[in-house]
Amino acid sequence: MKDFDGLKAVVTGGASGIGLAAARLLAERGARVAVLDLDADGVPEPLRGHRADVSDDASVTAAVSDAAGALRGIDVLVNNAGIGAVGTVEDNDDAEWHRVLDVNLLGIVRTTRAALRHLRRSAHPAIVNTCSVAATAGLPQRALYSATKGAVLSLTLAMAADHVREGIRVNCVNPGTADTPWIGRLLDRAADPAAERAALDARQPMGRLVTADEVAAAIAYLASPAAASVTGTALAVDGGMQGLRLRAP
Ligand code: NAD
Repeated sequence: MKDFDGLKAVVTGGASGIGLAAARLLAERGARVAVLDLDADGVPEPLRGHRADVSDDASVTAAVSDAAGALRGIDVLVNNAGIGAVGTVEDNDDAEWHRVLDVNLLGIVRTTRAALRHLRRSAHPAIVNTCSVAATAGLPQRALYSATKGAVLSLTLAMAADHVREGIRVNCVNPGTADTPWIGRLLDRAADPAAERAALDARQPMGRLVTADEVAAAIAYLASPAAASVTGTALAVDGGMQGLRLRAP
């Protein structure tokens, strides 16, 4: 399927995990893709890596401008860069709240602000934000992270309303626990990573984590011309985590 032929896409956080899977899939389907990431050197061909820190406005503005110049426009923006935080409201101080909000929420604001003038020139403009099941699920030990993702969900809806008459569609994906290097890093901190991984799989409704490629497929759908009437929606790719509300027997 080459439904992205002639389209140009920018993916933040595209050097790893969900962002890398999405960038690769868009490229396979015909898009020219620029990745904005702290780790621009980790971006494989044929993707174009641009070093950017989404928590720094000057860095984002310069990288979006470079990417738009190299691609000759932007049709699709995937706001995917994000970082985690563990704990209750007692566990993270103000500095940590600001640090994580700055990436997960304001990173989307900054990148979108820089990309909008390019998206306005596109015939098929679309924005997809990587949100999380944490936005709506009430997960324990994730107060700060969940709050950032709840804000991403609200922001997605507000942006969809603001830009609907310009033809710019804005949606988000809500992954459940996804098998990416991020989760690998968390598991590596456990005393027995293999046992922790087996326990994590067992806690999922489907008995396994979702894959980065499965989330990427949802991102590609929302970004594609096939989703021309889809805006202001959150597509869960969570193995049933939110909708089924399963409890351990
Ligand atoms: P990952 O750690 O594998 O990849 C994240 C990428 O973002 C990395 O390449 C990293 O360099 C980049 N990045 C981080 N901070 C950045 C910054 N300030 N500026 C630019 N780039 C930055 O993570 P992942 O699991 O692929 O997660 C991607 C997105 O998916 C995040 O928004 C995350 O919140 C969301 N998500 C992940 C899961 C999961 O279980 N893995 C579940 C729900 C939502």
